[in-house]
Amino acid sequence: MSTYTKFQDFLKQELSDIQSAGLYKNERIIVSPQSAAIRVGKGQEVLNFCANNYLGLSDNKELIEAAKEALDSRGYGMSSVRFICGTQDLHKELEASISKFFGTEDAILYAACFDANGGVFEPLLSDQDAIISDSLNHASIIDGVRLCKAVRYRYANADMADLEKQLQQAQAQRFRVIVTDGVFSMDGNVAPLDKIRELADKYDAMIMVDESHSAGVVGHTGRGTSELYNMIGKIEIITGTLGKAFGGAIGGFTTGKKEIIDILRQRSRPYLFSNSIPPMIAAAGIKMFEMIDRSNELQDKLHDNTAYFVEKLKAAGFDIKPTQSAICAVMLYDAKLSQDMATKLQEEGIYVTGFYYPVVPKDQARIRVQISAAHEKEHLDKCIAAFTKVGKALGVIK
Ligand SMILES: *Cc1c(COP(=O)(O)O)cnc(C)c1O
Repeated sequence: MSTYTKFQDFLKQELSDIQSAGLYKNERIIVSPQSAAIRVGKGQEVLNFCANNYLGLSDNKELIEAAKEALDSRGYGMSSVRFICGTQDLHKELEASISKFFGTEDAILYAACFDANGGVFEPLLSDQDAIISDSLNHASIIDGVRLCKAVRYRYANADMADLEKQLQQAQAQRFRVIVTDGVFSMDGNVAPLDKIRELADKYDAMIMVDESHSAGVVGHTGRGTSELYNMIGKIEIITGTLGKAFGGAIGGFTTGKKEIIDILRQRSRPYLFSNSIPPMIAAAGIKMFEMIDRSNELQDKLHDNTAYFVEKLKAAGFDIKPTQSAICAVMLYDAKLSQDMATKLQEEGIYVTGFYYPVVPKDQARIRVQISAAHEKEHLDKCIAAFTKVGKALGVIK
């Protein structure tokens, strides 16, 4: 028996445990561009209500053109990290666009927001410092915190009384950073940034917000939770992704105070030891910020679409979590029901995902619907009609 044989048996057992717990993730195959209407499997057309394509830019013609142009003029890849020979003018320009958009002092690009979060804490904080983290923060924040020696505190999701308690304990440390997602991806609620700022000021702490699900979405012009709370320029550190509302390709960033970004350029490991994003992605990113600065049409359409959809589903009798984003959690409270309902919706041509434990708390199973500016009124109406039909058939609504 070779070493691998034993390990293979072990993995097979793990896989079958995952299968029998009903937690095995099967990837569904899409055979078209990402869009409001997509073709899946052997070509069935469905309406997509589970992408992070909030502004509908994943197949945008202007962005595709900008990417193609850069492909021709600047080549395919950089074959380098930024500080050796991986920085083009395009990278600097995109960083400037990001800080202009968020009203911050500087920005630094990463291959993904997962890397931005993985590389933000360790260069800035030591074992003398404290990180106070929301319990529902994204996995990449949790991993980033693990890589850093700072003392860790955790507070219940958006619970300001608990945050205050943790801040009091964290007075023992030198510097304090409160860390939160801007929008929490399973419920669609936003972090109460105004109250977080009050507590941060009272207890001498800085704030970091991950705007991955909120950038492009939340706030009148989509500048995220700092716009929603009238706090542009008042957050020390913001991280975000180019992989959701901002075109959906790849890339992440950290933006905020100048000295913080400067230190990250010197010491952040995913930045120093990982390739720079390809020129076509940088060029399309620059174009994307130009577009959403030029006109608020997509942001307005997204907000109108979301309000319309939530109102109609509520009127149909569904139980919807209060949302301040483009995420709409249709509560079912039963794991099997969430899967059955998602399957039946797909038969009706509506592509959504059902979530249950351990992705969400026990007895909190749901279908998460994500609204996009790419959805037309007829798409929304078709989705609402399918929900109503399937919901009645399964006894979810009367
Ligand atoms: C999606 C997401 C990320 C990861 O972004 P990538 O650029 O895809 O790595 C990080 N944080 C939050 C809150 C997210 O929702």
